Amino acid sequence: MNSNEIEIHKELKKYFGFSQFKGLQEQVIKSLLNKQNTFVIMPTGGGKSLCYQLPALIQEGTAIVVSPLIALMKNQVDAIRSLSSENGIAHVLNSSLTKTEIAQVKKDITSGLTKLLYVAPESLTKEEYVNFLKTVPISFVAIDEAHCISEWGHDFRPEYRNLKHIIKQLGDLSIIGLTATATPKVQEDILKNLDMCDATTFKASFNRPNLYYEVRTKTKNIESDIIRFIKQHKGKSGIIYCLSRKKVEAIAEVLQVNGISAVPYHAGLDAKTRAKHQDMFLMEDVDVVVATIAFGMGIDKPDVRFVIHHDIPKSLESYYQETGRAGRDGGEGHCLAYYSYKDVEKLEKFMSGKPVAEQEIGFALLQEVVAYAETSMSRRKFLLHYFGEEFDDVTGEGADMDDNVRNPKTKTEAKADVVQLLEVVRDTKHLYKSKEVVFTLIGRVNAVIKAHRTDAQSFFGCGSKHDEKYWMALLRQVLVAGYLSKDIETYGIVKITGKGLDFIKKPKSFMMSEDHQYNESVDEAIVT
Ligand code: ADP
Repeated sequence: MNSNEIEIHKELKKYFGFSQFKGLQEQVIKSLLNKQNTFVIMPTGGGKSLCYQLPALIQEGTAIVVSPLIALMKNQVDAIRSLSSENGIAHVLNSSLTKTEIAQVKKDITSGLTKLLYVAPESLTKEEYVNFLKTVPISFVAIDEAHCISEWGHDFRPEYRNLKHIIKQLGDLSIIGLTATATPKVQEDILKNLDMCDATTFKASFNRPNLYYEVRTKTKNIESDIIRFIKQHKGKSGIIYCLSRKKVEAIAEVLQVNGISAVPYHAGLDAKTRAKHQDMFLMEDVDVVVATIAFGMGIDKPDVRFVIHHDIPKSLESYYQETGRAGRDGGEGHCLAYYSYKDVEKLEKFMSGKPVAEQEIGFALLQEVVAYAETSMSRRKFLLHYFGEEFDDVTGEGADMDDNVRNPKTKTEAKADVVQLLEVVRDTKHLYKSKEVVFTLIGRVNAVIKAHRTDAQSFFGCGSKHDEKYWMALLRQVLVAGYLSKDIETYGIVKITGKGLDFIKKPKSFMMSEDHQYNESVDEAIVT
């Protein structure tokens, strides 16, 4: 270790009491201390906060931390204050402060006492604050939950779009962006919108080898299926996610009637009841929480043994976040999702009232969930591919931990079909999303295809020996294999990759399995 390394290890111990850095923390901290723009993508629980807190504590000046949630900021400030004897070491600057409090914050920053200043993005639009911050030494700017800058993230906040402009006014400061949302599209949006394409990116693996992924058909017997599942996990902690409050209440009741200790949790309950139910779960007075997505933010119960999705979530990001609450201690974590296409249609209908651009994004994200549910390939490989990560489904850690791998469907040689598919993508000149590529193969016309006169091409209908479902399944598997890719700009236009062009020249074996068919479904209302 050189003297710098000894120094930051010493500071780590001094402030946080840890003797070692976790994952990529040390590299991230060094990058930031070297004044480089830095981009950190780590799953929740990866230890992101320390990546900017430690550099802030040991440098001259005040670090500005932009964070979207006031409650989260307050927690962080309390945590930092508990590490020091000085209250002024960390502050939140927001509009709820009194004049006297604001004066105190300014005084502590000016005197050099404050190392971390948490602000909501909207506070940074206040001229008074910006003018003040221009006059004091700033060490760097940290943008937490950086995915809020992207419409493709799960929590778009338009105020995040102004940040670049405001930071520039404060001087030539290095920026660290942090997020647990890892799709390539969101990453690109963050780098572009913060004007930091030069940033050094640190991305931790999103693989959770101890989680077991399973999808079951949603039938009218879902409730007894869930009860059976929970009874097989007797005495263990679990979370059941539903999309509607009504469903949360209904399922919690059904479980209680069947002798399972369960409580509901959703935003419609008063704060006291919510806190009580959360505590009961944490203290193990109940085994199961039935909840809407309102439950989980900041929940750090290490031994959640199962997460059940009664309804499919709106995106794979949400699915990953929610299932990620299982098995935090590295032990068993069973992630079971119930799927029926009817639910998808309901979600689509639900979105149809929103502005068109938002709808399109919503549909595209939902399609990825459908693809995940219907796939018969390794679910882990599929999920990680979605997050821009390659996973070897034979030798990778946790490779056998899903239903598809444990109970594989028979596979068939699809070499010739892959060539045909790749040629169609190439010959339609990267105009189409999956749907039109498949329509071209099976020879079905729609307005888009007509407009391009693709139906007059010799290859139109060249794959009509297979149906739409077959080609869609093959296309998804070919995407994950890297012979095709989805364009980041347009999100959805399918393109052929260099690897795909090589495949056409020199085809090799490609074993595919057809997607699952989920025929049985139930009619249930989704009301949030
Ligand atoms: P994230 O923001 O990525 O979700 P946090 O910053 O909340 O993660 O950290 C998750 C947990 O890991 C916290 O309990 C934190 O105290 C702990 N942690 C962070 N860094 C270390 C470390 N170097 N050694 C041990 N524990 C750590």
